[in-house]
Amino acid sequence: MKVTTLDLGHEAFANCYVITDEASGESAIVDPAYYNDNIRQLFYDAGAKNIKYILLTHGHFDHIFGVAGLKDASGAKVVIHKNDAEFLLDPKKSLSEGNMREPQIPVEADITVDEGDVLYLGEEKIEVLHTPGHTQGCVCYVLPKDRVMITGDTLFCMTAGRTDLYGGDEQMLIESLRRLIAIEGDYRVLPGHNRETTLEREKARNWYIRRMVK
Ligand SMILES: [Zn+2]
Ligand SMILES: [Zn+2]
Repeated sequence: MKVTTLDLGHEAFANCYVITDEASGESAIVDPAYYNDNIRQLFYDAGAKNIKYILLTHGHFDHIFGVAGLKDASGAKVVIHKNDAEFLLDPKKSLSEGNMREPQIPVEADITVDEGDVLYLGEEKIEVLHTPGHTQGCVCYVLPKDRVMITGDTLFCMTAGRTDLYGGDEQMLIESLRRLIAIEGDYRVLPGHNRETTLEREKARNWYIRRMVK
């Protein structure tokens, strides 16, 4: 599958990814941090076709603020872990209150996922790993055939997500990272902020993992 990283501009604070299965023409947008007509065009320029899913790594405002607009425009199904689904309805939990100038438009999740769930674009699998710690409902989306892992605010290049916000739990984050580094082989790691990395590089060099996990 084709995976493209998008910078959605100055109103968006997180990385957004477009996943497209060329064979079926089905796409997913991961963490639409903002939405407007320009961003809509960016999605299509990045190869998005029939947008089937809006995949959310967790419920923080900087990852979900564009969900309502994109769902409205595309009819895509909103996918989030069950523990973070309420963030889509609650600007206090998502932290959009006080951080965004516009009000958060409430949106219901269409599909609440949990550990081991599998979604498909065409025939291509997207696996869900529940990796709580940054929030209770953090997930990673794994594209096994392409060896790509979208890690949200769980694993970053050289560091990991903070655990001092609502629902955060450091011990859970450590357990989640322990799981990720136990996965065999190498993966492209696409985090929620900052630059892309690889699983092998993070196993060897990530300072948070070296200090807290190993
Ligand atoms: Zn977050
Ligand atoms: Zn974030």
